[in-house]
Amino acid sequence: MPLIQTTVPLLDLTAQYEPIKDDVLAVIKEVFDSKVFILGPKVTQFEAQAAAYCHVNHAIGVSSGTDAILMALMAMGIGQGDEVITAPFTFFATAGCISRVGATPVFVDIDPHTFNIDPHLIEASITPRTKAIMPVHLFGHMADMDAVMAIAKKHGLYVIEDASQAIGSHYTNSKGEVKWAGSVGDVGCFSFFPSKNLGGIGDGGMITTQNSHLADTLIKLRNHGAQERYFHEMVGGNFRLDAIQAAVLSVKLPTLEEQHRLRQKNGAYYNEHLHSLVTIPFVKPGFRMIYNQYTLRTPKRDALHAWLDQRQIGNAIYYPLPLHLQKCFAHLGYEAGDFPESEKAALEVLSIPIYSELNTEQKQAVVEAIKAFFN
Ligand SMILES: *Cc1c(COP(=O)(O)O)cnc(C)c1O
Repeated sequence: MPLIQTTVPLLDLTAQYEPIKDDVLAVIKEVFDSKVFILGPKVTQFEAQAAAYCHVNHAIGVSSGTDAILMALMAMGIGQGDEVITAPFTFFATAGCISRVGATPVFVDIDPHTFNIDPHLIEASITPRTKAIMPVHLFGHMADMDAVMAIAKKHGLYVIEDASQAIGSHYTNSKGEVKWAGSVGDVGCFSFFPSKNLGGIGDGGMITTQNSHLADTLIKLRNHGAQERYFHEMVGGNFRLDAIQAAVLSVKLPTLEEQHRLRQKNGAYYNEHLHSLVTIPFVKPGFRMIYNQYTLRTPKRDALHAWLDQRQIGNAIYYPLPLHLQKCFAHLGYEAGDFPESEKAALEVLSIPIYSELNTEQKQAVVEAIKAFFN
């Protein structure tokens, strides 16, 4: 009897929106009827909701996660001649923004277990030009922020959390305090790209901070550096969040905890069935992983990638080329071999479907396809 093959997408936005479709369409209509399309009450309402969720004093809605990072650097006055330390195993925007403000990205290798910046390697890369450290909470697992903050404090550096993949992620520190992504460093940068755990229906982002002085500066930067219209205290940009995005995000935020819970359940299912075949994601004790991605490792990655593609089982390589080896950063003078853990990760990682709405049959199909490959 021929097998009926289940195909599984990497992400299913139709399934995600089905249960909330009416609520989403209703708020879109509200925004349309109000004709307040940019900033305004919907954005203010979302910012208050998001600040409470992220356990921060200030949340500022902006145009994208990339712009959040760019604005954070601008607000700190980081530019020409300055260096910012970050990891090379991340999405391009992390380092792209450092370059865009005229500063130099200085890469530090990752911890191979969490894929996040290895704090033991940071101090050796600090110079008199270093202004900030930008840890990335990759795939939904926070970086070792206690260690990063201690180094930053000792050397008088800013810390910018790239929390684009980590809204709702947290860890418990040595004092027993729960620390949420975006609440630990000077600022946290979030993305509402549709594939993130909290995604909009277009581009959007957010900056969080506990510092009211930085918050004031960021609010001005978002609107061409002007508090009062047409009077510019600094050079900013158009980094504003649309009311429609904010309204939709306000509908979705109350469902986020349930989304995380379902992703964690899917992750546990994969862990149980795949641990003997591949290296499963590592979650540090005391850390809450929100599984923006479920990223496994195997030396047979390329063959597994092709195998799953052939069977229409969603999978993707995040990320295939570390940033120190990108053509646009050739002038920085890095070479293959400089960051062995990042380079090895780039050859071995594969992300498989983890979205909340995956059903049992789909999860089984993913597991069966991977098992069949290893047999
Ligand atoms: C998604 C992402 C960004 C950029 O966010 P956009 O909203 O797409 O601009 C930055 N850094 C990381 C790690 C990301 O995953």
